[in-house]
Amino acid sequence: MTSVATRLTLLSSRPGDRAAAQPGTSGGSCSAALAEQPWDFPAPLTEGYGPGASQHDVVPPGSPAQPAIPQRYRDASPGELDAMISTAKQTLGNRVVVMGHFYQRDEIVAHADFIGDSFQLAQQAKAHPEAEAIVFCGVHFMAETADILSTEQQAVILPNPAAGCSMADMADEDSVEECWAELVDVLGPHATDEHGTVLTDERGEPLASVVPVTYMNSSAALKAFCGRHGGIVCTSSNAATVLEWAFARGQRVLFFPDQHLGRNTAKAMGVPLEQMPLWNPNRPLGGNSPAALDDARVILWHGFCSVHRRFTVAQIEQARAEHPGCTVVVHPECPMEVVDAADSAGSTDHIRKAVAAAEPGQTFAIGTEINMVNRLAAEHPEHTIFCLDPVICPCSTMYRIHPGYLAWVLEELVAGRVVNRVSVAPEVAAEASVALERMLAAVPRA
Ligand code: SF4
Repeated sequence: MTSVATRLTLLSSRPGDRAAAQPGTSGGSCSAALAEQPWDFPAPLTEGYGPGASQHDVVPPGSPAQPAIPQRYRDASPGELDAMISTAKQTLGNRVVVMGHFYQRDEIVAHADFIGDSFQLAQQAKAHPEAEAIVFCGVHFMAETADILSTEQQAVILPNPAAGCSMADMADEDSVEECWAELVDVLGPHATDEHGTVLTDERGEPLASVVPVTYMNSSAALKAFCGRHGGIVCTSSNAATVLEWAFARGQRVLFFPDQHLGRNTAKAMGVPLEQMPLWNPNRPLGGNSPAALDDARVILWHGFCSVHRRFTVAQIEQARAEHPGCTVVVHPECPMEVVDAADSAGSTDHIRKAVAAAEPGQTFAIGTEINMVNRLAAEHPEHTIFCLDPVICPCSTMYRIHPGYLAWVLEELVAGRVVNRVSVAPEVAAEASVALERMLAAVPRA
């Protein structure tokens, strides 16, 4: 049987803090529920987001039900699961590719053919049309993107459908449609000057009053929304380029679901904070006056990542006090004050490159998901690397891809059965592809 101690294999990489790694203890994990098995969901699911939920997570309407998997996968030891996965992968050969996100737990990453961020993995899915099945060890929106970019014949499998993304769930299609209708009502379809004259771009085409931009961390339905409303998708690597693209086509941007990535990126581009109102989907006009929306440059959806919003300026001050000269690198999903206080901010790729490029002997305090930080520390023994947050708080939904689920979906494939396939409806995929293709075609200003 898998014990609680072996289930929670995460250890704080903060120097001198290793003793505090047990769940439910002061300075340990952010949620005692992280020690629960991922299949032990309370039924009905009424509170939190299930076992391992991050603080502040809420249950989204229509949250996927936990599937029952055969008892033998639940009872197997870590070693037994590891052997089952290896054997099934060997049997399947190149009929299957396994994708592992940077934030995934080590027991899963050990079996991944490719490791990367959501977009890098989606590109890998596109680059392997020979594989009949793509087992995506990430979260739901990532599997959807892989399905959109892969061929019709390929099956994209999410080992546990309850592995969603709490940030992506903060912007549902209905709320964004309502927001859009209100914005068009107040601002009209086209950009205008103070005299009401319609503004045009360099080709004489009318500029839009608002261009929708969705972060990759969103449902396929919202990517499709952007596709049909002249909008675009962005990642944390290309958000500035994408905002430039959008400003060339419209007077304002509606950015969802992550307010922090939107604010941090637009602020770095010189957009004043007063021109970045927050849109609260539970209030009329998002809680804004028509004048504030008229003056806006970037309208920010009220979304955030439960993992990245845990990082604070106080943690940075503590890291600098304890490790004078350390380099603080954070993800742009962190709050603005944290990004401002850090030495640099950027995507997972930026963080990895910053560490890889440094002279040996550096100390890095990193503000991103702890699985990735711990892996970086293991890969770079020449540096001292630790997570800014001394409390263990992994991406709890990603954490639901327990090896038991991976073993189950792979053995089902061996038996000729596809389970937990993620399929985006063709009409949604077609519109979402438009927004994704716009992103791929957007190039940084020379
Ligand atoms: S780290 Fe945050 S944004 Fe990324 S998948 Fe997890 S909840 Fe979503």
